[in-house]
Amino acid sequence: MSSRYDVIIVGGGLAGLTVADGLDSMKVLLIDMKKEPYKNIACAEWTPKLPEFAPFSEYSVEYMEIHYANSVRYLRSPGFVINREKYQKKLLERLKVDVHLGERALKVEGHKVITTHGTYTAEYIIGADGPLSIFRKKKENRYLVAINAKADLEREIKNTIVYFDQRFMYGYAWCFPRGDVANCGVGAQVRNIKDLLFLWMGILEKRGVVKRNKIYDIHTGIIPVTGVFIPENGGYFLVGDAGGFIDPLTGAGIAFARESAKMVKSAIQKGMNVGEFRKELRSWVVARFLDRRKKKREVLEKEWHNIKRAVEKSWLSSFRE
Ligand SMILES: Cc1cc2nc3c(=O)[nH]c(=O)nc-3n(C[C@H](O)[C@H](O)[C@H](O)COP(=O)(O)OP(=O)(O)OC[C@H]3O[C@@H](n4cnc5c(N)ncnc54)[C@H](O)[C@@H]3O)c2cc1C
Repeated sequence: MSSRYDVIIVGGGLAGLTVADGLDSMKVLLIDMKKEPYKNIACAEWTPKLPEFAPFSEYSVEYMEIHYANSVRYLRSPGFVINREKYQKKLLERLKVDVHLGERALKVEGHKVITTHGTYTAEYIIGADGPLSIFRKKKENRYLVAINAKADLEREIKNTIVYFDQRFMYGYAWCFPRGDVANCGVGAQVRNIKDLLFLWMGILEKRGVVKRNKIYDIHTGIIPVTGVFIPENGGYFLVGDAGGFIDPLTGAGIAFARESAKMVKSAIQKGMNVGEFRKELRSWVVARFLDRRKKKREVLEKEWHNIKRAVEKSWLSSFRE
């Protein structure tokens, strides 16, 4: 098998799959270190209500309840809670490119990608390898730790629930309905994330939202909160979490992984180089939105000692009521 490609995509998560999807006129290789990258993803599966997510929706919501400092606010925030495994499996199955699963990229050097199985070269190399990308230095990024579990619901809930508490440092807890179950979790700047999950589940049990001791599918992950990363040097295109295309305030990254991947795919199809792409990226409406959200995160963290003020000046002022 030839090891020369037009495009190599490192990472077969949502961002990598979206770049590869429809890039049929080029010789493309997609590599993922996992054998089944669509399984066991740490995610609460909320997406905005966009048509591309509708076929994978398990539940539809219109409002978000924000609980903070003994208050509740209801914000309009239409969305789906999707079946992400089904979505990514479907994308993977319909790809018409070379796919290497169970193969880890170790490093990139110029036009070369060196993996556990060999060395490949390409004109375009795309970093779609998530928050701990090999395309970036560790110090260039800051993260929250996050955990999600499924829980059986005690009663039907119609809205997404978001809960702020001083202990969920710089983050929050969530409960997103998905039929008879809910995705429940916490994202925070802490070491003891599992303890916080059990604390949160206790709160939900007490309020009669979830059934006692009925939690499963617990997965942890990390959420980059540094905002969009525009490397000054290096000839690589970064998409999804690898490129910081994730809302630094809320940690929502599914829609941004998809949008950034579509943008990179279009740049490649137009024959753009990374320098030209970088210039375009600075004025891209999505990148500017994420920049504004990054500023809101700065406010949230600065005011954290006063949760009421922190939430009102960051989250509440970002959403339309
Ligand atoms: C607990 C939690 C809950 C979340 N909830 C939501 C939510 O409700 N809504 C939302 O919009 N976002 C949510 N997010 C964020 C969202 O999951 C991410 O933004 C999204 O997964 C980014 O997709 P991606 O393709 O960029 O990265 P990933 O999904 O991380 O995919 C990266 C892929 O690259 C592969 N890979 C990594 N390194 C290598 C390597 N060296 N070689 C080969 N392959 C490699 C991995 O195996 C993986 O398959 C949540 C995140 C967490 C942690």
